[in-house]
Amino acid sequence: MAHDFDLLVLGAGSGGVAASRRAAAQGARVAIVEGSRVGGTCVIRGCVPKKLLMYAAQLGEGLTQARGYGFDFGDAAFQMPRWAASKATEIDRLEGIYRKMLAGSKVELIEGWARITGPHTVQVGERVITTEHLLLANGSLAVKDSIPGIEHCATSDDLLDLQQLPESLAIIGGGFIAVEFASMLARLGPKVTLYYRDRLPLRGFDEVLRIGAAAALQAAGVELHPGVVPRQVQPTADGLVLVVGAERIRSFPWVLNATGRRPHTQGLGLETLGIVPDAKGAIFVNDDHETSAPQVYAIGDVTNRINLTPVAIAQGRALADRLFGSGARRMNWAQVASAVFMMPPIGSVGPSEADALAAGHRLRIFETDFRPMKQAFIGGQERTHMKLLVDADTDRVLAVHMMGADAPEIVQSLAVALTAGATKADFDNTVAVHPTAAEEWVLLREVTREVKPQVPREVTGEVTSDVTQPAP
Ligand SMILES: Cc1cc2nc3c(=O)[nH]c(=O)nc-3n(C[C@H](O)[C@H](O)[C@H](O)COP(=O)(O)OP(=O)(O)OC[C@H]3O[C@@H](n4cnc5c(N)ncnc54)[C@H](O)[C@@H]3O)c2cc1C
Repeated sequence: MAHDFDLLVLGAGSGGVAASRRAAAQGARVAIVEGSRVGGTCVIRGCVPKKLLMYAAQLGEGLTQARGYGFDFGDAAFQMPRWAASKATEIDRLEGIYRKMLAGSKVELIEGWARITGPHTVQVGERVITTEHLLLANGSLAVKDSIPGIEHCATSDDLLDLQQLPESLAIIGGGFIAVEFASMLARLGPKVTLYYRDRLPLRGFDEVLRIGAAAALQAAGVELHPGVVPRQVQPTADGLVLVVGAERIRSFPWVLNATGRRPHTQGLGLETLGIVPDAKGAIFVNDDHETSAPQVYAIGDVTNRINLTPVAIAQGRALADRLFGSGARRMNWAQVASAVFMMPPIGSVGPSEADALAAGHRLRIFETDFRPMKQAFIGGQERTHMKLLVDADTDRVLAVHMMGADAPEIVQSLAVALTAGATKADFDNTVAVHPTAAEEWVLLREVTREVKPQVPREVTGEVTSDVTQPAP
C-alpha cells in the first residue's frame, strides 16, 4: 500500500527539522508535525533565548569593566521588559526562518499534536496520516514531580518569558540549566539562592570545572546550598516556601525548578507500536536510531542520551542519510563537546579525569590557571583554568577542559583536533596566536601530574569511545 509520506517526523525541534530537511533533499516525501512552535526547545525556549539573556548579563558586567578601561558614563540598569520585547521579536524572526527553511526544502508542516494510532499511522486532529518510516523527535519537558509541590515552581520556559525579574529567587538543581541561570540572574539584579544535591554542581563534568563553577557562583553573590534539596514546596500568598530541613523553611517570591527534564513521550500512543519507554519515558534505540518497532526511529532528547542540540541534529542527519542517502552513516559519539554558558563560561570535550581513569587510561595531566590580560588590567579577579588530559601510553590528547572567557568558542575548535586524533606532540608543534588566552593550549610544557588507573586498559592505540562524556 502506498503511504502518504516516505517519512513522517514528530516534532519540529533541532533533530526533527534537521532530519526532515536532509531526507527531503534526498528525494523523500516528508512531513513534520509540530504541536507548539517551530524550532523546538533550543530556538524557542532553550539555547537561543538563554544565550540572549547571558549576553545581557555579560554586557552589564562589561559596563563595570568599561570604567576600568577609561570610559565615563552615568548609572545603567537592566530593564527586563525591553529585553523581553526584543527577545520575542528575535524568536519570532528565527521561527519564521525555520518555517521558510521547511517550505523551501519541500517538507510539509502539519500543525497540531500528533498521536500514534498504529503501525504506519498517526493522527493529528481529524487528519489521519500514513507513512512508511516514522521518526520520533518529540524532545523533552521539565520534570514536575521530582519534589512534592515542585509543580508550583516556574520552569526555564516560564523564566525566559518573564517580563520582570523578582528581587530574590531560589533555584533548585545543580545541572547546567540551574548553574547558567544562577550565574546570569545574579548579575541582572535578583539575589539568587541555589540548592543542589551533590557537594558540587555540574555532575559529570571534570572536578576542576565543578569546583570552579561553585567558586564563580559564590563570587557572583549566589548563596550556595550544596547537598540540600528541599523536601517540599508550598505555595503561599507572596510566593513559595521551601521546606529545607526538619524544621527549616525559607520563603522566596519566585522559585525555578531546574531539577531535570524528561522525554516527551506521555500520551504519544507508543503502546500501539509495542514500544515500551524506560522509567524516565526515554525511547531505547540502537546505533542506527532504530526503536524496537520496525521502521520507527527516535533521535534527540526523546532518547535521553546526550541531550544537546548538535547531538539531535547529527543524529537526524545521520538517520536521513542512512534511510534515503548513499548508505550507512552513524553519528560519532566519541568526542561530543559541551559548554556551560555561565560567567566565566565552561567548555569541555572528552572525558573527565575520573572517567578517563575509570576507563583505564594512564594520564599525563597539564594544567594552568591564570588571570587573563583583560582582567589584570582592571584589577579583576576572574581567572582562566585549562586542563589537558593526555594518554601517557599513546600521547593522544583525550580531553580539554576549560573555564574562562570564550571557553566554549575555543573548545569548539580544539574538538576538531581531538576528533582528528591529535597528540600532545601535535599541540606542541602548533605555533601560538599571540596575545590570546587560547595560546596557552599549545604552550603547556610541564606535566602537572601523572596518574595511573586502578585497572589499566589494554593499549591498542585506537580511537577511544569507551569513556563517558560530560552529560549536562
Ligand atoms: C533552558 C535550556 C537551555 C538549553 N541550552 C542548550 C545549549 O546551550 N546548548 C545545547 O546544545 N542544548 C541546550 N539545551 C538542550 C536542547 O535544547 C535540546 O537538547 C534540543 O532542543 C533537543 O532537540 P530535539 O529535537 O530532541 O527536541 P526539541 O527541540 O525539544 O523538539 C521537540 C519538538 O517536538 C514537539 N512535540 C513533542 N511531542 C509532540 C507531538 N506529540 N506532536 C507534535 N509535536 C510534538 C515539541 O513541541 C517540540 O517542539 C537547552 C535546553 C533548555 C531547556
